[in-house]
Amino acid sequence: MTDAGAARLLLTGGVVVTLNARREILAPGAVIIEGPRIAYAGPAGRAPVRDDDERVDCRGHLVMPGLVNAHTHAAMGMFRGLAEDRPRDEWARTMYALPYLDHLRPDEYRHGAFLGALEMLSNGITATADRGSFMEFSADGLDAAGIRAVVSHTLFDVDRPLELDRALALVNRWGTDPASRVHCGLGPHAPDTCSDALLRRVRALAGETGARVFVHCAQSDREIAALRGRGHRGAVRCLWDAGLLGADVVAAHCVYVDDEEIQLLADTGTWVAHCPASNAKIEGRAAPVASMLRAGVGVALGTDWAPSNNGMDLFDEMKTAGLLGKVRSDDAAALPAGRLLEMATVDGARALGIDAHAGSLEAGKRADVIVVALDALRLEPLHDPAAALAYTVKGQDVRHVWVDGRWLIRDRRPTHVDVDALRAETERVWRRLRGSLRGPA
Ligand SMILES: [Zn+2]
Repeated sequence: MTDAGAARLLLTGGVVVTLNARREILAPGAVIIEGPRIAYAGPAGRAPVRDDDERVDCRGHLVMPGLVNAHTHAAMGMFRGLAEDRPRDEWARTMYALPYLDHLRPDEYRHGAFLGALEMLSNGITATADRGSFMEFSADGLDAAGIRAVVSHTLFDVDRPLELDRALALVNRWGTDPASRVHCGLGPHAPDTCSDALLRRVRALAGETGARVFVHCAQSDREIAALRGRGHRGAVRCLWDAGLLGADVVAAHCVYVDDEEIQLLADTGTWVAHCPASNAKIEGRAAPVASMLRAGVGVALGTDWAPSNNGMDLFDEMKTAGLLGKVRSDDAAALPAGRLLEMATVDGARALGIDAHAGSLEAGKRADVIVVALDALRLEPLHDPAAALAYTVKGQDVRHVWVDGRWLIRDRRPTHVDVDALRAETERVWRRLRGSLRGPA
């Protein structure tokens, strides 16, 4: 972070993709970072440059807001590659049957979340919604990595003991102020794993604490069947009955929703965190995103956890969302590139409730900024920045990343982390897990 009185950073010479209200793309544009905030984002010719500004040469680069991951479980990246190519309904059973999952120690959750946050930052993701068990440890890991995060401790009560005290302790620890880089939401797991009474209680708690609500919804066949057994005609209807739809709710997945439920999502302003790679990989299905957008539903993009993806790269996710959305809607014109870009930036920020602070390059917002290199041959020539970002750019093209004005990734390397030590720690965790369980070598 630049200290008070220290030089400001002038990002100059690049194509600036602002995602501001007019969706301006400025070539060349300039961005000035002063302390934790953006002091200027606009045409290069009008930038209020000072002699002592530190210049970052962005010629041959795109400058844009950091991406917003609307749904993941960063710590679980530790389990990537362990449940592959399973039939629908078997994937979750395989994942949860892994002996390792129950044996990860709290400090190892912290490590996993730190590692996952670093993966996301390296891929240009500067804000994320994370949820899970042992969230007090994951939250520390996310915080230490420097990423912006809304964290929620998972609540279930159907087949597991309810951990409401831990969820509320997390809310007390981090607060619910969207201006705080790390702050707290409420995380009921899903309609089938939470009783109707718990879903109603979460609505009341959201009112009392000001926390947003993050819930899985209509993710699997199995979930819908279980809900039918409880007398609900669908997962969205179940949330509606519990009063748990609304503009402060982010429902992840929404694969199995009918037109009436899509209308309920739209009418209530409920956000959908669309996770196309995860849905395709573990369920073999695609959510009806084009129908949602047509109905006016707000849709953000999520990678979901790395085991079902197998990474956390929102550039990949934009492409997957575009392609699967066209196939699912039988409409090659659906989900245009500019729309995909909005889902991964401004709309992600709106879903997380942080749009006053992040999601676009505008003076006064927090400096969550990324610089994307265009030197890969696959990016020649650059005719359409939105198309390049949605379909051709990869996380590995991200060269610089700032969060709150703190330069976290510089020339593709973390500035605040010893990567070799991080790798060694991951190896140590796995040696311990395998050793203690005598699992596969
Ligand atoms: Zn999830």
